[in-house]
Amino acid sequence: MSRVYNFSAGPAVLPEDVLKEAATEMLDYKGTGESVMEMSHRSKEYDAIIKEAEADFRELLGLPDNYKVLFLQGGASTQFAMIPMNFMKNKKAAYIVTGQWAKKAYKEAALFGEAVSVASSEDKTFSYIPDCSDLDIPEDADYVYICENNTIYGTKFKELPNTKGHELISDVSSCFLSEPMDVEKYAMFYGGAQKNIGPAGVTICAIREDMIPEEALPGVPTMLQYKTHADADSLYNTPPCYNIYMCGKVFKWIKNMGGLEAMKAHNEKKAAILYDFLDASKLFKGTVVPEARSLMNVPFVTGDDELNAKFIAEAKDAGFINLKGHRSVGGMRASIYNAMPVEGVQKLVDFMDAFEKANS
Ligand SMILES: *Cc1c(COP(=O)(O)O)cnc(C)c1O
Repeated sequence: MSRVYNFSAGPAVLPEDVLKEAATEMLDYKGTGESVMEMSHRSKEYDAIIKEAEADFRELLGLPDNYKVLFLQGGASTQFAMIPMNFMKNKKAAYIVTGQWAKKAYKEAALFGEAVSVASSEDKTFSYIPDCSDLDIPEDADYVYICENNTIYGTKFKELPNTKGHELISDVSSCFLSEPMDVEKYAMFYGGAQKNIGPAGVTICAIREDMIPEEALPGVPTMLQYKTHADADSLYNTPPCYNIYMCGKVFKWIKNMGGLEAMKAHNEKKAAILYDFLDASKLFKGTVVPEARSLMNVPFVTGDDELNAKFIAEAKDAGFINLKGHRSVGGMRASIYNAMPVEGVQKLVDFMDAFEKANS
């Protein structure tokens, strides 16, 4: 067996220990004689799995009791619609548009009310985070929305926006559990699992309880109301059982690694190796302003499309896969999520260095 270094933006690398442990439990989960995939979601064994996953998630983030944790389906993209469907009481919300994912959320909100773009970094291909210290946020906006880490462009909010008393909702898909969060600053944060915490198919939402409306906007289907899932502790219908089990294993892995402070140090170390190399390189260049650089997604270019393609192909042959940039930006992108070992980034940089010498 040989494993590659996978720099995919998502679905992405998972901790090898987690995959191995899941493999040993595949046919017979803890003496039950069945796989978690085959298990009733109403069984006592599964109840323990989902409760423990939630408890570990809460412990990692220090999430207070007045926040609900929901395990939902439909990907982060379904949240783009569920958020306005549930929270746009005044039919108005403020969006900070810092990339494709924020833009999609903004457009979706416009289906349900007035989505106001209060800041954007589109003028410079989303390569920076706008100053959000004094935005013109409509008084009656129901919430302020951000995408905290921009998976495609590689920027990250280093400071949360000044919402001027409005509720903050954040898409943390690509920085989920990568570092500690000041959770009480958010009315809601959520993310798809497949970037940093598990396999594709489950979306985890943390919502402050008082935010969850008794009634969503008129006509919102039962399955798209947060209340439905909150009242049933994510078991209104069959949840993505196996995915939640896998996320639970990743939460344990993060706890064993020392929690979110340790995760942050681990991620900063990897990012520094890569950014320091990019800053010193004459061939490769990072595309994001230094103040807004993501610890998770690192886009870079050579300035020459042919050379980019050559690099991506040779890297793949050398065991570094999925380095192609998003189709909307081109170039390269290395996603170096929690589960990417330091050694993987160091070896990538060594490979880039050798490539640079051979091609200049
Ligand atoms: C990948 C991604 C999404 C979309 O996730 P799906 O699960 O494919 O719907 C949304 N937001 C961010 C920040 C992402 O990285």
